[in-house]
Parts: sequence; C-alpha cells; structure tokens
Amino acid sequence: MNSPQHILEHVFGYTHFRDPQEAVINTLMASDDALVLMPTGGGKSLCYQIPALARPGCGVVISPLIALMQDQVEALQEAGIRAAYLNSSISYDEAQAIENQLLYGELDLLYLAPERLLQPRTLALLQRVELSLFAIDEAHCVSQWGHDFRADYLQLSCLHEQFPRVPRIALTATADKRTRAEIALRLDLESARHFVSSFDRPNIQYRIEPKDNQRRQLLQFLKNGQEGQAGVVYCLSRAKVESTAEWLSQQGYTALPYHAGLPAETRAEHQRRFLREEGVIVVATIAFGMGIDKPDVRFVVHLDLPKSVEAYYQETGRAGRDGETSIALLLYGLEDVVKLGQMVESSEGSEEHKRHERTRLNAMLGLCEMTSCRRQALLHYFAETLEQPCGNCDICLEPPATWDGSEAAIKLISCVYRTGQRFGASHVIDVLRGSDNEKVRKFNHDKLTTHGIGKDFSGSEWKAVVRQLIVRGYLEVEGEFQGLKLTENCRPLLRGEEKLQLRKLPKKAPRAQTRNTAVLEDLEPGEEPLWLALRSCRKQLAEERGVPPYVVFHDATL
Ligand code: ADP
Ligand code: MG
Repeated sequence: MNSPQHILEHVFGYTHFRDPQEAVINTLMASDDALVLMPTGGGKSLCYQIPALARPGCGVVISPLIALMQDQVEALQEAGIRAAYLNSSISYDEAQAIENQLLYGELDLLYLAPERLLQPRTLALLQRVELSLFAIDEAHCVSQWGHDFRADYLQLSCLHEQFPRVPRIALTATADKRTRAEIALRLDLESARHFVSSFDRPNIQYRIEPKDNQRRQLLQFLKNGQEGQAGVVYCLSRAKVESTAEWLSQQGYTALPYHAGLPAETRAEHQRRFLREEGVIVVATIAFGMGIDKPDVRFVVHLDLPKSVEAYYQETGRAGRDGETSIALLLYGLEDVVKLGQMVESSEGSEEHKRHERTRLNAMLGLCEMTSCRRQALLHYFAETLEQPCGNCDICLEPPATWDGSEAAIKLISCVYRTGQRFGASHVIDVLRGSDNEKVRKFNHDKLTTHGIGKDFSGSEWKAVVRQLIVRGYLEVEGEFQGLKLTENCRPLLRGEEKLQLRKLPKKAPRAQTRNTAVLEDLEPGEEPLWLALRSCRKQLAEERGVPPYVVFHDATL
C-alpha cells in the first residue's frame, strides 16, 4: 500500500497537503471517524479519496447529486483511479458490471446516491466486500434546518450499525453551530474527531448594494473589469433566470440559463460549457453550484437576496477557488425581504421551523445593512473572529455615510401604528408620502394625521429606513401579507430617549441618461434601428416599475 503523501504526489500531482487534509487522512488511516467542516473549494474530496486509495478495500462515497458524481468520477478515472458510480442514470447492465468489479475487488471508489445505498440489495452487496471507508459528502443535507435537506440522509446513521468497523467521514461547507451539532447527532458522529477550518476567503471582495436598477447595476459591474471573465449570476425565480440570461446575451455576453425546470441535457450542457469554455456567465437559481469545481470563477452576483447567510456564503464561495481576486456582488431590496418572508410563511414547516427561517433571513438582511466590515460580520456568523476590519469589502473601502434618522423612524413607526400594524411596507410608504391611490382611500388612510408627513423622502429612501428598522429590531414583518408590526424596542425611540443613526443610500448615477447609454452603447452602427432600442428601453423601464409596456414615462428621457 502506498502512503498518503505518495498518493498525493503521484496520483493527484500535488506537492503539499492543505490544512487540515493530512490530519483528517491520518484519522481515517487509524480507522477513526471524522467530521470535516471546510469552506467550499477548501479541498474536502482528497480527505476521503486518498485514504480510500491507501487503505485496503473500496471506499463508498455518498453524494446527493448525480451531476456531481459524474464529474468527480470522470476526473478520478482520468487520473487512473478505479472509480465508478451507481445511480438511476445507469443502465441495468452497466450496474451489473460495476457490481462485479466491486465483488472482485477491482474498485477503489464507488459513488452512490443515498437512496441507492439504502436499498437492501446494495447494503447486502456491500456486506460481502471489503470497505475502506464511508464518506458522506455535503453532509449538511441531513439538516432539516438547512436549505438542501434530503430525507434519505437521515437514514445514513444505519451505516454505523451495519458496518461498525468501517470508518466514516462526513464533510460539509455549511457550518453554523446548529447545523454542525445536527450533523453530528443525526449521523452518530459525536465521538468523531471534528475538523473545523477557517471560513475566511480573503481573496473574495464582498460588495452589497441596494437595488436601484438592477440591470443597469449588473451591466456597470460587468463592464467595469469583468469583461471576458467567468461568473455566476443568481436569481430567485426561474422566469428571472431566463429573462436575465436572454438580456445578457443581447448585450453581447455568453450567458446560459440554469435551473431545475430545464431539461437535464440542457443543464448538463450549460454546466459543461461553463467548465470548459472561457468567459461564460451562468445565470442560475440555487439549483446551480453544489460541488461545482471551477477554479477561475471571477465573480458571483446575486440579483436577489439569498435566504440565509449560509446560502450567501456558500454561493459566493464558488468564486475564486484559485485564490485570485474575485468579487461577490449582491443587489438587494425590500421586495426581496417581503418575497422571501412570504415563502417562509407559506412553506410547510412547523412554527418553530418558520421562526428559525425568519431569524436566518433577518441575519442576512442584517449583513446587507451593516455599517462596519462585512467580512468581520460574516466570519462572526460562523463563530470566527477577525481582529481587524478586512480593508477590502465595500464598507472598508468606502464607509457609508450615516444620518440622524430618529425623526424619520418616528414618522414611520407612527404611520405603522396608525394604519393598524397589518399593512406591508409599500402601503405604509404610500400613506407617508401622501398618495391617494385606491387602497389608501379604501381604508380611509388619507384621513390619517400621518398621511403625507413623509413627502420629503423618496420611495427608495423610505424603503431603506424600513429595512434598517427591521434589521435593528424596531419593526417585525409578519404573516402572509408581510405586515409591519412594532416591537418593544420602539419605546425609547418614541420617547426621545434614543437617537438612531441610519446609513445613507449610495449616490445614484443620473438615471435616464445612464439607462439609455447602457442600451444604446452596445449597438453596432446601423445594426439595430433606433426604435427597437427605444422599445427595449421602455420595456425595461416598464418591467422595473411593474407596469404594462405601453405606459408612457414622462420622467425618463427616451
Ligand atoms: P471542496 O469539496 O472542499 O469544495 P474540492 O475537494 O473540490 O473542494 O477541491 C477544490 C480544489 O482544490 C480542486 O481543484 C482540488 O484539486 C484542489 N486541491 C485540493 N487539495 C489540494 C492540494 N493539497 N493541493 C493543491 N490543490 C488541491
Ligand atoms: Mg466537494
């Protein structure tokens, strides 16, 4: 048998172990169990691949996604390793051949989907052969609190009972304390050695901006140093994925959509092009990315708010695995908070689960509305401390200006109170700004003393105030309609015993002008008639404002 170091060099072609690979590998070599928490791109795979090769018998890897298995197995086979996978995409004959290889001791690594492993037939087969280890990859799938919960993962605790002598290793990049405890509990790994790596990704620059005109913001970002680079743009809905990919293609980018509603071949093809070609942008829902191993992803953009800090960290973590400078840009708005809040409310989970999800969403919003170093906050979330501000995130580079928002906050709180603490933010803002739309009149809110007391701020300025009051615990969002409610925290503020510093909105570029140039700039002379460009301008405006495209805009120079 070859030593781990020998395998590292001669099979994988690397010279050094990364921390803590060697210690993890030694644990398995000694037949002990391990729980490994390492950020995405940290090098978790080698932690089980090397001991599987160095120990007698075949290593069994449980992996949640078929696409991920195929990629890994192909890469291993290219390196001359005897690896195979069994899942629903394999024909009966192929499966038979693989089972025979296993029985004859001709396999080093076998990848299985959890449901396949748990079939009595598979378990019986594994009882008959020598096994070097069980690796449970993406182990956070066992967590019911997490975003990738897989019921089959819960049953993996049976491995310990059925194969008590085979060491087990569970690996994940998702690791708030609660998830970690749950993994250890559910997989029976409490007495395993735990390896927890730093989650700091110093080469990723975090930038978070309020949404203003997201397409214009995205285009500006891409034009500013990201031309020809590979990246991922995440959107919340499939429809938005498709429209954004189409729009980016019209702007001359190679942009491919990816979401669970696309045929499997299309998804595989887009993933392949992303991995193999240069400068491909994948526009995707969160369905894209688990286990994607592309070292030179230069940017990850979120056009919608992720629903938790864990999700944000994991998705942004797909950038810059090669250690080179990369950017994570998130654009967020109050609408996102409302939409995600509604998703939580209408989900099927228990009340406790919903409360947990709400807390997670609020933590995410909190990260957006920070006025101090984002990296510090992010690491703090994962129970890590960064002594100094990072000096590299948007806030360190350009500390946000703040203003005394006490009076505005009091106006807002009063208006929420007067309208009965059951309306969503947009209605409350309408009342504050003195709108007399149908809904305002229907509820007689134009008769309230708070009607029109907030005319001095724009809608987006009020939205920023609402977001910050939510983050700081003065307001809560509740129920199906995401109505705003006051909390106890409001009292000292209302009594004037407390001042409230709020962050200012970043300065906008002049609106209509930038929008026109953004669309027109890309036209080859004579290529597209002007009216077409104007039409797409108008369509974009209409989309942003949620009105039909035939509405004429008086405030935009089209
Ligand atoms: P994870 O599963 O933790 O996200 P992977 O196991 O996919 O990460 O590894 C990420 C990348 O790091 C891969 O390209 C892998 O080849 C590389 N890598 C892992 N370990 C080492 C090492 N010791 N030396 C050099 N590169 C490594
Ligand atoms: Mg991995």
